[in-house]
Amino acid sequence: MSQGTGQNFGPSRSASPAVTSASEFATPLATLHPTTPAPDSPDYKVAGVEGSHRPICKSCVMPEAKPHIFFDHEGVCNLCREYEQEKQVEASSKLLESDLLKILAKHKGQGKYDVLAMCSGGKDSTSALYYMVTRYKVRPLAFMFDNGFETPEAIANVKRAVDKLGVDFMFFKSGYMKELFSTLLKTDSKAVVCHPCSLWYMDLAYDTAARYEIPIIIAGWTKGQSTSQNVMSKCGCNTSQPEFKEMGEATKQFIETYIRPNPRYKDFPTSMEEVLKRAQKRHKSLVLSPHWFLPFDQETYVETIRRELGWEYPKLSYPGRSTNCALNFVSVANSMKHFGYTHYHVEMSKLIRQGVLSRDEALRDLDFNVKKSTLNEIASQLNYEYK
Ligand SMILES: [Zn+2]
Repeated sequence: MSQGTGQNFGPSRSASPAVTSASEFATPLATLHPTTPAPDSPDYKVAGVEGSHRPICKSCVMPEAKPHIFFDHEGVCNLCREYEQEKQVEASSKLLESDLLKILAKHKGQGKYDVLAMCSGGKDSTSALYYMVTRYKVRPLAFMFDNGFETPEAIANVKRAVDKLGVDFMFFKSGYMKELFSTLLKTDSKAVVCHPCSLWYMDLAYDTAARYEIPIIIAGWTKGQSTSQNVMSKCGCNTSQPEFKEMGEATKQFIETYIRPNPRYKDFPTSMEEVLKRAQKRHKSLVLSPHWFLPFDQETYVETIRRELGWEYPKLSYPGRSTNCALNFVSVANSMKHFGYTHYHVEMSKLIRQGVLSRDEALRDLDFNVKKSTLNEIASQLNYEYK
Protein backbone atom coordinates (compact mmCIF):
# COMPACT_ATOMS: atom_id res chain seq x y z
CA MET A 1 0.00 0.00 0.00
CA SER A 2 1.29 3.47 -0.78
CA GLN A 3 2.73 5.58 1.94
CA GLY A 4 1.60 8.82 0.31
CA THR A 5 3.93 11.46 -0.99
CA GLY A 6 5.38 11.98 2.42
CA GLN A 7 4.54 15.68 2.25
CA ASN A 8 1.05 16.50 3.37
CA PHE A 9 -0.98 13.42 3.76
CA GLY A 10 0.31 11.89 6.96
CA PRO A 11 -0.21 8.22 7.68
CA SER A 12 -1.41 5.83 5.03
CA ARG A 13 -4.05 3.28 5.86
CA SER A 14 -1.51 0.77 6.95
CA ALA A 15 0.75 3.10 8.89
CA SER A 16 0.66 3.97 12.54
CA PRO A 17 -1.23 7.17 13.37
CA ALA A 18 1.77 8.33 15.32
CA VAL A 19 3.35 9.32 11.99
CA THR A 20 1.08 12.38 11.79
CA SER A 21 3.06 15.53 12.22
CA ALA A 22 1.50 17.55 15.03
CA SER A 23 3.09 20.79 13.93
CA GLU A 24 1.32 20.57 10.59
CA PHE A 25 -2.02 21.03 12.33
CA ALA A 26 -0.99 23.58 14.88
CA THR A 27 -1.96 26.45 12.58
CA PRO A 28 -5.72 26.86 12.13
CA LEU A 29 -6.94 26.25 8.59
CA ALA A 30 -8.30 29.77 8.36
CA THR A 31 -4.82 31.20 8.86
CA LEU A 32 -3.27 28.94 6.26
CA HIS A 33 -5.91 29.60 3.70
CA PRO A 34 -7.85 32.83 3.59
CA THR A 35 -10.71 31.23 1.64
CA THR A 36 -11.43 28.71 4.42
CA PRO A 37 -15.06 29.21 5.45
CA ALA A 38 -16.02 30.93 8.66
CA PRO A 39 -16.96 28.52 11.48
CA ASP A 40 -20.67 29.32 11.10
CA SER A 41 -20.68 28.38 7.40
CA PRO A 42 -22.33 25.18 6.14
CA ASP A 43 -18.84 23.81 5.45
CA TYR A 44 -18.50 23.42 9.20
CA LYS A 45 -21.71 21.49 9.68
CA VAL A 46 -21.40 17.70 9.71
CA ALA A 47 -24.52 16.35 8.02
CA GLY A 48 -26.91 14.92 10.58
CA VAL A 49 -24.89 15.91 13.63
CA GLU A 50 -26.72 18.55 15.62
CA GLY A 51 -24.63 21.51 16.71
CA SER A 52 -21.54 20.15 14.94
CA HIS A 53 -18.73 22.61 14.56
CA ARG A 54 -16.02 20.84 12.62
CA PRO A 55 -14.76 21.37 9.11
CA ILE A 56 -15.91 18.78 6.58
CA CYS A 57 -13.91 17.63 3.60
CA LYS A 58 -14.53 19.65 0.43
CA SER A 59 -14.43 16.48 -1.62
CA CYS A 60 -16.30 13.85 0.46
CA VAL A 61 -18.48 14.22 3.59
CA MET A 62 -16.01 13.23 6.31
CA PRO A 63 -15.50 15.63 9.19
CA GLU A 64 -12.06 16.30 10.57
CA ALA A 65 -11.20 13.72 13.26
CA LYS A 66 -7.55 13.97 14.23
CA PRO A 67 -5.26 12.15 14.26
CA HIS A 68 -6.92 9.72 11.83
CA ILE A 69 -8.77 12.11 9.52
CA PHE A 70 -7.14 15.42 8.72
CA PHE A 71 -7.22 18.01 5.97
CA ASP A 72 -4.65 19.62 3.74
CA HIS A 73 -4.46 23.32 2.84
CA GLU A 74 -7.17 22.85 0.22
CA GLY A 75 -9.61 21.46 2.77
CA VAL A 76 -9.44 17.92 1.33
CA CYS A 77 -9.08 14.96 3.69
CA ASN A 78 -6.25 12.43 3.79
CA LEU A 79 -8.65 9.62 2.78
CA CYS A 80 -9.57 11.39 -0.46
CA ARG A 81 -5.92 12.16 -1.19
CA GLU A 82 -4.93 8.54 -0.58
CA TYR A 83 -7.74 7.39 -2.84
CA GLU A 84 -6.45 9.59 -5.66
CA GLN A 85 -3.09 7.90 -5.36
CA GLU A 86 -4.48 4.41 -5.18
CA LYS A 87 -6.98 4.93 -7.98
CA GLN A 88 -4.51 3.72 -10.56
CA VAL A 89 -4.06 0.43 -8.76
CA GLU A 90 -7.81 0.03 -8.09
CA ALA A 91 -8.64 0.65 -11.74
CA SER A 92 -6.51 -2.25 -12.85
CA SER A 93 -8.05 -4.55 -10.25
CA LYS A 94 -11.64 -3.49 -10.99
CA LEU A 95 -14.14 -6.30 -10.62
CA LEU A 96 -16.07 -7.26 -13.73
CA GLU A 97 -19.36 -9.07 -14.08
CA SER A 98 -17.54 -11.85 -15.92
CA ASP A 99 -15.57 -12.46 -12.70
CA LEU A 100 -18.81 -12.99 -10.79
CA LEU A 101 -20.11 -15.35 -13.49
CA LYS A 102 -16.95 -17.44 -13.21
CA ILE A 103 -17.27 -17.69 -9.42
CA LEU A 104 -20.94 -18.66 -9.61
CA ALA A 105 -20.32 -21.24 -12.34
CA LYS A 106 -17.58 -22.84 -10.29
CA HIS A 107 -19.77 -23.36 -7.20
CA LYS A 108 -23.20 -23.84 -8.73
CA GLY A 109 -25.21 -27.05 -8.57
CA GLN A 110 -23.40 -28.80 -5.73
CA GLY A 111 -26.25 -28.92 -3.24
CA LYS A 112 -29.82 -27.90 -2.73
CA TYR A 113 -28.91 -24.21 -2.67
CA ASP A 114 -26.19 -22.36 -4.57
CA VAL A 115 -26.18 -19.25 -2.40
CA LEU A 116 -27.37 -18.08 0.99
CA ALA A 117 -28.81 -14.60 0.35
CA MET A 118 -28.71 -12.39 3.42
CA CYS A 119 -31.80 -10.17 3.33
CA SER A 120 -32.38 -7.00 5.35
CA GLY A 121 -35.34 -5.71 3.37
CA GLY A 122 -33.21 -2.82 2.08
CA LYS A 123 -32.68 -1.90 -1.56
CA ASP A 124 -29.18 -3.35 -1.82
CA SER A 125 -29.86 -6.84 -0.43
CA THR A 126 -33.28 -7.09 -2.09
CA SER A 127 -31.79 -6.29 -5.49
CA ALA A 128 -28.92 -8.70 -4.79
CA LEU A 129 -31.47 -11.48 -4.26
CA TYR A 130 -33.40 -10.36 -7.34
CA TYR A 131 -30.35 -10.54 -9.61
CA MET A 132 -29.30 -13.91 -8.19
CA VAL A 133 -32.59 -15.38 -9.36
CA THR A 134 -33.35 -13.47 -12.54
CA ARG A 135 -29.94 -12.61 -13.98
CA TYR A 136 -27.69 -15.40 -12.73
CA LYS A 137 -30.25 -18.22 -12.39
CA VAL A 138 -28.83 -19.61 -9.18
CA ARG A 139 -30.88 -21.20 -6.40
CA PRO A 140 -30.81 -19.07 -3.26
CA LEU A 141 -31.94 -19.72 0.26
CA ALA A 142 -33.15 -16.29 1.42
CA PHE A 143 -32.12 -15.67 5.01
CA MET A 144 -33.32 -12.87 7.27
CA PHE A 145 -32.17 -12.42 10.85
CA ASP A 146 -34.00 -10.26 13.34
CA ASN A 147 -32.17 -8.94 16.41
CA GLY A 148 -35.54 -8.00 17.91
CA PHE A 149 -35.59 -4.53 16.34
CA GLU A 150 -36.39 -5.33 12.70
CA THR A 151 -39.15 -3.06 11.38
CA PRO A 152 -42.42 -4.39 9.93
CA GLU A 153 -41.63 -2.45 6.72
CA ALA A 154 -38.31 -4.27 6.27
CA ILE A 155 -39.84 -7.68 6.96
CA ALA A 156 -42.68 -6.95 4.53
CA ASN A 157 -40.16 -6.05 1.79
CA VAL A 158 -38.39 -9.39 2.20
CA LYS A 159 -41.63 -11.36 2.29
CA ARG A 160 -42.91 -9.70 -0.88
CA ALA A 161 -39.60 -10.38 -2.63
CA VAL A 162 -39.39 -14.07 -1.71
CA ASP A 163 -43.06 -14.60 -2.66
CA LYS A 164 -42.60 -12.98 -6.07
CA LEU A 165 -39.33 -14.78 -6.75
CA GLY A 166 -40.57 -18.09 -5.36
CA VAL A 167 -37.45 -18.82 -3.31
CA ASP A 168 -37.11 -20.68 -0.01
CA PHE A 169 -37.02 -18.32 2.93
CA MET A 170 -35.68 -18.69 6.46
CA PHE A 171 -36.52 -16.11 9.12
CA PHE A 172 -34.42 -16.21 12.26
CA LYS A 173 -35.53 -14.08 15.20
CA SER A 174 -33.66 -14.05 18.48
CA GLY A 175 -33.63 -12.11 21.74
CA TYR A 176 -30.03 -13.20 22.29
CA MET A 177 -28.55 -9.75 21.56
CA LYS A 178 -30.91 -7.76 23.78
CA GLU A 179 -28.81 -7.93 26.95
CA LEU A 180 -25.68 -6.97 25.01
CA PHE A 181 -27.41 -3.92 23.49
CA SER A 182 -28.76 -2.93 26.88
CA THR A 183 -25.30 -3.21 28.48
CA LEU A 184 -23.82 -1.11 25.69
CA LEU A 185 -26.26 1.73 26.40
CA LYS A 186 -26.10 1.53 30.17
CA THR A 187 -22.29 1.62 30.27
CA ASP A 188 -22.31 4.60 27.86
CA SER A 189 -19.86 2.64 25.74
CA LYS A 190 -18.37 4.20 22.62
CA ALA A 191 -18.76 0.84 20.85
CA VAL A 192 -20.90 1.11 17.73
CA VAL A 193 -24.17 -0.79 18.28
CA CYS A 194 -24.06 -2.18 14.73
CA HIS A 195 -20.62 -3.73 15.23
CA PRO A 196 -21.35 -6.50 17.76
CA CYS A 197 -24.56 -7.10 15.84
CA SER A 198 -22.60 -7.63 12.62
CA LEU A 199 -20.29 -10.08 14.42
CA TRP A 200 -23.36 -11.97 15.58
CA TYR A 201 -25.14 -12.07 12.23
CA MET A 202 -22.05 -12.96 10.22
CA ASP A 203 -21.45 -15.84 12.61
CA LEU A 204 -25.08 -16.85 12.12
CA ALA A 205 -24.81 -16.61 8.35
CA TYR A 206 -21.69 -18.78 8.25
CA ASP A 207 -23.35 -21.25 10.59
CA THR A 208 -26.47 -21.45 8.42
CA ALA A 209 -24.43 -21.81 5.24
CA ALA A 210 -22.45 -24.64 6.86
CA ARG A 211 -25.62 -26.39 8.00
CA TYR A 212 -27.02 -26.48 4.45
CA GLU A 213 -23.62 -26.83 2.78
CA ILE A 214 -24.07 -23.63 0.80
CA PRO A 215 -20.83 -22.53 -0.89
CA ILE A 216 -21.54 -18.79 -1.26
CA ILE A 217 -23.04 -16.16 1.03
CA ILE A 218 -24.53 -13.22 -0.82
CA ALA A 219 -24.65 -9.85 0.93
CA GLY A 220 -26.10 -6.65 -0.45
CA TRP A 221 -23.01 -4.59 0.27
CA THR A 222 -22.42 -1.61 -1.96
CA LYS A 223 -19.13 -0.59 -3.53
CA GLY A 224 -18.77 1.89 -0.64
CA GLN A 225 -18.90 -0.99 1.79
CA SER A 226 -15.68 -2.10 0.23
CA THR A 227 -14.60 -4.87 -2.03
CA SER A 228 -10.96 -5.55 -1.36
CA GLN A 229 -11.32 -6.20 2.34
CA ASN A 230 -14.97 -7.26 2.10
CA VAL A 231 -16.30 -8.78 5.31
CA MET A 232 -13.73 -7.12 7.48
CA SER A 233 -14.30 -3.56 6.42
CA LYS A 234 -18.05 -3.88 6.06
CA CYS A 235 -18.29 -4.69 9.70
CA GLY A 236 -16.21 -1.72 10.70
CA CYS A 237 -14.23 -3.75 13.17
CA ASN A 238 -11.17 -3.39 11.03
CA THR A 239 -8.98 -0.99 12.94
CA SER A 240 -6.47 -0.70 10.11
CA GLN A 241 -8.75 1.81 8.36
CA PRO A 242 -8.22 5.26 9.89
CA GLU A 243 -11.91 6.19 9.68
CA PHE A 244 -12.88 3.07 11.68
CA LYS A 245 -9.94 2.86 14.00
CA GLU A 246 -11.48 4.47 17.06
CA MET A 247 -14.85 2.82 16.52
CA GLY A 248 -13.34 -0.63 16.07
CA GLU A 249 -11.16 -0.31 19.13
CA ALA A 250 -14.11 0.83 21.26
CA THR A 251 -16.13 -2.19 20.12
CA LYS A 252 -13.37 -4.61 20.92
CA GLN A 253 -12.81 -3.10 24.34
CA PHE A 254 -16.53 -3.19 25.12
CA ILE A 255 -16.84 -6.86 24.22
CA GLU A 256 -13.75 -7.81 26.22
CA THR A 257 -14.74 -5.79 29.29
CA TYR A 258 -18.48 -6.30 29.53
CA ILE A 259 -19.59 -9.06 27.22
CA ARG A 260 -17.18 -11.97 27.40
CA PRO A 261 -17.24 -12.10 31.23
CA ASN A 262 -21.03 -12.58 31.04
CA PRO A 263 -21.70 -16.36 30.94
CA ARG A 264 -24.44 -15.79 28.38
CA TYR A 265 -21.85 -14.42 25.95
CA LYS A 266 -18.76 -16.40 26.92
CA ASP A 267 -18.31 -17.50 23.30
CA PHE A 268 -19.15 -14.17 21.69
CA PRO A 269 -16.52 -13.28 19.06
CA THR A 270 -14.42 -10.21 19.87
CA SER A 271 -13.56 -9.45 16.28
CA MET A 272 -14.44 -10.30 12.71
CA GLU A 273 -11.12 -12.14 12.42
CA GLU A 274 -12.41 -14.50 15.07
CA VAL A 275 -15.70 -14.98 13.23
CA LEU A 276 -13.81 -15.83 10.05
CA LYS A 277 -11.47 -18.22 11.81
CA ARG A 278 -14.39 -20.14 13.32
CA ALA A 279 -16.16 -20.20 9.97
CA GLN A 280 -13.11 -21.67 8.25
CA LYS A 281 -13.13 -24.55 10.70
CA ARG A 282 -16.77 -25.40 10.03
CA HIS A 283 -17.19 -24.83 6.35
CA LYS A 284 -15.60 -22.62 3.77
CA SER A 285 -18.13 -20.19 2.31
CA LEU A 286 -17.27 -17.29 0.07
CA VAL A 287 -18.91 -13.99 0.94
CA LEU A 288 -19.58 -11.56 -1.84
CA SER A 289 -21.93 -8.89 -3.08
CA PRO A 290 -23.16 -8.74 -6.69
CA HIS A 291 -23.04 -4.93 -6.41
CA TRP A 292 -19.26 -5.09 -6.57
CA PHE A 293 -19.55 -6.59 -10.05
CA LEU A 294 -22.84 -5.29 -11.45
CA PRO A 295 -22.84 -2.49 -13.98
CA PHE A 296 -26.03 -0.89 -12.57
CA ASP A 297 -26.22 2.17 -10.39
CA GLN A 298 -28.48 2.46 -7.39
CA GLU A 299 -31.19 4.40 -9.20
CA THR A 300 -31.52 1.64 -11.77
CA TYR A 301 -31.82 -1.27 -9.38
CA VAL A 302 -34.17 0.57 -7.02
CA GLU A 303 -36.46 1.29 -9.97
CA THR A 304 -36.26 -2.39 -10.97
CA ILE A 305 -37.16 -3.86 -7.57
CA ARG A 306 -39.95 -1.33 -7.03
CA ARG A 307 -41.49 -2.35 -10.31
CA GLU A 308 -40.80 -6.09 -10.18
CA LEU A 309 -41.02 -6.87 -6.46
CA GLY A 310 -43.20 -4.09 -5.05
CA TRP A 311 -40.26 -3.00 -2.90
CA GLU A 312 -40.80 0.17 -0.79
CA TYR A 313 -38.70 2.67 1.14
CA PRO A 314 -39.52 2.91 4.86
CA LYS A 315 -41.20 6.13 6.03
CA LEU A 316 -38.45 7.08 8.44
CA SER A 317 -34.82 6.11 8.05
CA TYR A 318 -31.25 7.13 8.68
CA PRO A 319 -29.60 7.80 6.34
CA GLY A 320 -32.38 8.87 3.98
CA ARG A 321 -33.38 6.25 1.40
CA SER A 322 -32.10 3.32 3.47
CA THR A 323 -33.69 0.44 5.37
CA ASN A 324 -32.25 -0.50 8.73
CA CYS A 325 -33.47 -2.00 11.96
CA ALA A 326 -34.94 0.42 14.53
CA LEU A 327 -31.83 0.14 16.69
CA ASN A 328 -29.90 1.83 13.90
CA PHE A 329 -31.30 5.18 15.13
CA VAL A 330 -29.71 4.53 18.50
CA SER A 331 -26.47 3.41 16.85
CA VAL A 332 -26.14 6.57 14.74
CA ALA A 333 -27.10 8.88 17.61
CA ASN A 334 -24.36 7.31 19.76
CA SER A 335 -21.77 7.47 16.98
CA MET A 336 -22.54 11.13 16.39
CA LYS A 337 -22.16 11.81 20.10
CA HIS A 338 -18.94 9.86 20.56
CA PHE A 339 -17.18 10.32 17.21
CA GLY A 340 -18.94 13.20 15.46
CA TYR A 341 -19.78 11.02 12.46
CA THR A 342 -21.24 7.61 11.67
CA HIS A 343 -20.23 4.61 9.58
CA TYR A 344 -22.63 5.98 6.96
CA HIS A 345 -20.47 9.09 6.56
CA VAL A 346 -17.58 6.68 5.89
CA GLU A 347 -19.54 4.55 3.43
CA MET A 348 -20.98 7.49 1.49
CA SER A 349 -17.60 9.19 1.33
CA LYS A 350 -16.25 6.05 -0.35
CA LEU A 351 -19.11 6.09 -2.84
CA ILE A 352 -18.40 9.75 -3.62
CA ARG A 353 -14.72 8.97 -4.26
CA GLN A 354 -15.75 6.15 -6.57
CA GLY A 355 -18.04 8.51 -8.45
CA VAL A 356 -21.24 6.56 -7.84
CA LEU A 357 -22.86 9.04 -5.43
CA SER A 358 -22.82 12.82 -5.59
CA ARG A 359 -21.69 14.82 -2.58
CA ASP A 360 -25.00 16.72 -2.58
CA GLU A 361 -27.01 13.48 -2.49
CA ALA A 362 -24.90 12.20 0.39
CA LEU A 363 -25.29 15.43 2.35
CA ARG A 364 -29.04 15.28 1.81
CA ASP A 365 -29.36 11.64 2.93
CA LEU A 366 -27.14 12.17 5.96
CA ASP A 367 -28.79 15.36 7.13
CA PHE A 368 -31.39 14.25 9.61
CA ASN A 369 -31.46 14.55 13.35
CA VAL A 370 -33.12 11.68 15.14
CA LYS A 371 -35.66 12.99 17.66
CA LYS A 372 -35.07 12.19 21.30
CA SER A 373 -38.62 10.83 21.57
CA THR A 374 -37.88 8.35 18.73
CA LEU A 375 -34.66 7.29 20.46
CA ASN A 376 -36.40 6.79 23.77
CA GLU A 377 -39.20 4.79 22.22
CA ILE A 378 -36.55 2.32 21.03
CA ALA A 379 -34.23 2.56 24.04
CA SER A 380 -37.09 1.91 26.47
CA GLN A 381 -37.17 -1.66 25.15
CA LEU A 382 -33.64 -1.96 26.53
CA ASN A 383 -34.58 -0.30 29.82
CA TYR A 384 -32.56 2.78 28.95
CA GLU A 385 -33.49 6.43 28.69
CA TYR A 386 -31.75 9.26 26.87
CA LYS A 387 -31.75 12.34 29.14
ZN1 LIG B 1 -12.51 13.60 1.84
